[in-house]
Amino acid sequence: MNFEEFEKIQLVLKPYNVQLIAVSKTKPSTEVMQLYKLGQRHFGENKVQELTAKQEELPKDICWHFIGHLQTNKVKYIAPFVHLIHSVDSLKLLIEVNKQAVKNNRVINCLLQIYIANEKTKYGLSFTEAEQLIASPEFITLKNIRICGLMGMATNISNQSQIDWEFASLQYFFKQLKERQFADVPYFKELSMGMSSDYTIALKHGTTMVRIGSILFGERNYS
Ligand SMILES: *Cc1c(COP(=O)(O)O)cnc(C)c1O
Repeated sequence: MNFEEFEKIQLVLKPYNVQLIAVSKTKPSTEVMQLYKLGQRHFGENKVQELTAKQEELPKDICWHFIGHLQTNKVKYIAPFVHLIHSVDSLKLLIEVNKQAVKNNRVINCLLQIYIANEKTKYGLSFTEAEQLIASPEFITLKNIRICGLMGMATNISNQSQIDWEFASLQYFFKQLKERQFADVPYFKELSMGMSSDYTIALKHGTTMVRIGSILFGERNYS
């Protein structure tokens, strides 16, 4: 755990009023507790099983963010408690989230994940697909979900101007959507972009949530 980095990130984010989501995937609950004791309450996970295990054993006032690819058949496991799903990338998934939200008698906050990277491996909707989803007749019937904004991941690349351009284009699309489709939706206000390597770039483009793992917890070991 890099406590110095934790303090530094908080100082950097403060003037921007940006939410830090500590991405604890692959890291043990003991490390989550170390940050919890310092006041951190927002944590991000990308695997359903790992998230539910940690949620069970850790304090109940943690706000859990789901940031990974979500399979429809696994929504039910996180629906009772998840704070925000960043990775909604299809209408089918959104319909299932709504269904499970109804079952749990709650409203589930979601972001639409938008594909901005120049890579084949990343999930997400194109701008056009996102617009189509929002305009679809089914979308209007989903009363137990709330689209709070957009999420995007930039290309994993050292070329800063490429990342800059990707975040700028997502910010532009976000503004357009807000004006055209969500003008009277006050909760449509979140832009989740920026990770360990590129969060300072995301700050220049209006991010409201950064998802930071490795510079806080150290490199992950996927053995
Ligand atoms: C792992 C992950 C992060 C954090 O990545 P770091 O480079 O460790 O900061 C952020 N967002 C998503 C979607 C992730 O899967």
